[in-house]
Amino acid sequence: MDFDYIIIGGGIAGLSLGAKLAGAGSLLLIERETNLGYHASGRSAALYEPNYGPPEIVALSSESSDAFHAMAGILTPRGVMSVAGEGQDALFGQDVDAMDMQEISIDEACHIVPILNPKAVWRAARADHAWDIDTDLLLQGHAATLRALGGQVVTKANVTAITPQLGGWTIQAGDQTYSGKMLINAAGAWADQIATLAGVNPIGIQPLRRSMARIPAPGNHDVSGWPMMFGAGETWYAKPDAGALIVSPADADLVEPQDAWADDMVLAEGIARYEAMVTSPVTQLLANWAGLRSFTPDHVPVIGHDLMQPNFFWLAGQGGYGFQTSPAASELAFNLLTWQPSNLSRPLIMKLSPLRFL
Ligand SMILES: Cc1cc2nc3c(=O)[nH]c(=O)nc-3n(C[C@H](O)[C@H](O)[C@H](O)COP(=O)(O)OP(=O)(O)OC[C@H]3O[C@@H](n4cnc5c(N)ncnc54)[C@H](O)[C@@H]3O)c2cc1C
Repeated sequence: MDFDYIIIGGGIAGLSLGAKLAGAGSLLLIERETNLGYHASGRSAALYEPNYGPPEIVALSSESSDAFHAMAGILTPRGVMSVAGEGQDALFGQDVDAMDMQEISIDEACHIVPILNPKAVWRAARADHAWDIDTDLLLQGHAATLRALGGQVVTKANVTAITPQLGGWTIQAGDQTYSGKMLINAAGAWADQIATLAGVNPIGIQPLRRSMARIPAPGNHDVSGWPMMFGAGETWYAKPDAGALIVSPADADLVEPQDAWADDMVLAEGIARYEAMVTSPVTQLLANWAGLRSFTPDHVPVIGHDLMQPNFFWLAGQGGYGFQTSPAASELAFNLLTWQPSNLSRPLIMKLSPLRFL
């Protein structure tokens, strides 16, 4: 066999694991696109909010805190704010509880974000425990570590065939054939397609499209210190980004795995929900895009060896949390692949395991 480990997928999942695993054996990471992080990992909102998401995500995100804070330059304080209009008290209450926010007065909210419309915003809450993630730096750092440890990366290499061999796999990628003992499926929205190619039962990964627009800083305000704002019930969100604001309709439309793009109507409706809460209308879009947030049927990531084919390892279904969970998720994957104990609780490891889909 050419390699001990072959990872398919050059997003945050594959790269964060590769940066750990390259020290444990010979490793090849295969990516179809020319650039690493081209799909979901290049299109995220780049937020680390450890209280955001279902319990298993919160556990992985919280476990990731020390690693994130130890990485120089990766996190920058951001904070979050929830804003609710008339009749949205129940949704607002759920968000405040879930994200452990403190309710603040409308005056205070408008002082923090001067474009909030006091006639439209009925309730507001905020929390400081949320950070911007420098996702480019994180991805490039992992790629550099992977290579420094002797791992190899091939790009522009579409995996089209995966054939089981005694003790491993033969993989056709582009015009090359590679062999490896352990195949790691970190293919994001394409994770089920990779399983099918390998003759492994797919899990039912669902790619949900999420769109984003970049707009100029409203009213020429300095937006750099504004928190990330969520419409109650996550019906839209807006976040400062390099001197501008990114606004998302928070859409979650099921699509085929693809190079996703924003739907104009979905974007317009989401921007209208944002505009309903602010005094500054959107007159210009600087850019727009969409990415796929890929979920398992129970919306919990899948991390572990396939039961029927133990040389096939799943690292997929990270949904909208793939960056903020990546330190703990990659550590668990590393520990399982190298047969080392994990800090995570046994019930959590079992909840993440592919065995639950049998
Ligand atoms: C709009 C948006 C906002 C988000 N905001 C946040 C956020 O604020 N915080 C957060 O933590 N997460 C966020 N996420 C989620 C996060 O971006 C994803 O969970 C994460 O990027 C998934 O990483 P991945 O490596 O699994 O997938 P990807 O980045 O999609 O990587 C998978 C790779 O596999 C490759 N591949 C697939 N098939 C093949 C093949 N046959 N051959 C070779 N290569 C193949 C693909 O080309 C792709 O590059 C957001 C996502 C979106 C779309």
